[in-house]
Amino acid sequence: MNESTIAFIGAGNMASSIIGGLINNGWPTYQLIATARTEETLSDIREKFNIETTVDNHQAVGKADVIMLCVKPQVMKEVLTDLSSSIKPNALIISVAAGITMESLQKWGGEHLSIVRSMPNTPSLLQCGASGLYANNNVSNDHKKLTDDIFNAIGIAKWVDQESLIDAVIAVSGSGPAYYFLLMEIMEQVGSRLGLDNETSRQLTLQTALGAARMATESSVDAAELRRRITSPKGTTEQAIKTFQEQGLPELVEKAMNAAVDRSIELA
Ligand code: NAD
Repeated sequence: MNESTIAFIGAGNMASSIIGGLINNGWPTYQLIATARTEETLSDIREKFNIETTVDNHQAVGKADVIMLCVKPQVMKEVLTDLSSSIKPNALIISVAAGITMESLQKWGGEHLSIVRSMPNTPSLLQCGASGLYANNNVSNDHKKLTDDIFNAIGIAKWVDQESLIDAVIAVSGSGPAYYFLLMEIMEQVGSRLGLDNETSRQLTLQTALGAARMATESSVDAAELRRRITSPKGTTEQAIKTFQEQGLPELVEKAMNAAVDRSIELA
């Protein structure tokens, strides 16, 4: 495992998930440091992970080879501007903050810094995440490898070579969990209207989503082929799929994902 020391600035939900993932993957606890505003938050982190903690961001950053900026977007400017003087020259900075651009990170931290902008999603909290990563030109291949190790500890991670593609990542995986939740919500409700009791409808829906996701991720063929294989001619599934397609589901999903991209651009 890597010899790098990682400082988590802002030990909240996302930082805890990454710390948990790294420890599960064998990262030595003595190479992890976490900071937060209050000692109370930090005592929970210490109890859970047995890692070093401090309320002093400078102290953590001074020791760190990798600095994970896990604070909320609205405090990022204040935190990074304050920290810039303590960052080691070869350190790698990774931001998980939604909507904070590379230009802002460089302006607040320094143009010379190696910075990765990441876009993790909520299932990362269960170490089942899908993250998009974008690096500035200062980031070396070793730094990229290190970043992969960190994000693979909470799921899968994919690099994009243009920052604008982070908006596409947001439309696919950032907002994506909610699309599936919506479909589950609708299927549960319709199942109940078709006569199933609510709990039966809920459990059948959720297990079906899990089973379909596992088949799609574990199979060597793509989702379209899996769908074709379980759609018998003139069968029930064919009737349902035909209805989805004739009623414009593909166009609707495209419209919704474009709306997510537009909103992401507006917010940045
Ligand atoms: P959170 O509120 O759980 O954690 C933020 C932590 O930052 C808190 O523990 C707080 O004490 C600490 N903090 C605040 N000011 C600080 C300061 N000056 N110095 C040190 N620590 C400070 O939030 P979260 O859900 O973990 O989100 C953190 C970041 O992750 C956000 O920027 C968010 O955009 C990004 N993110 C989160 C998710 C998610 O699923 N939770 C998904 C994608 C991106």
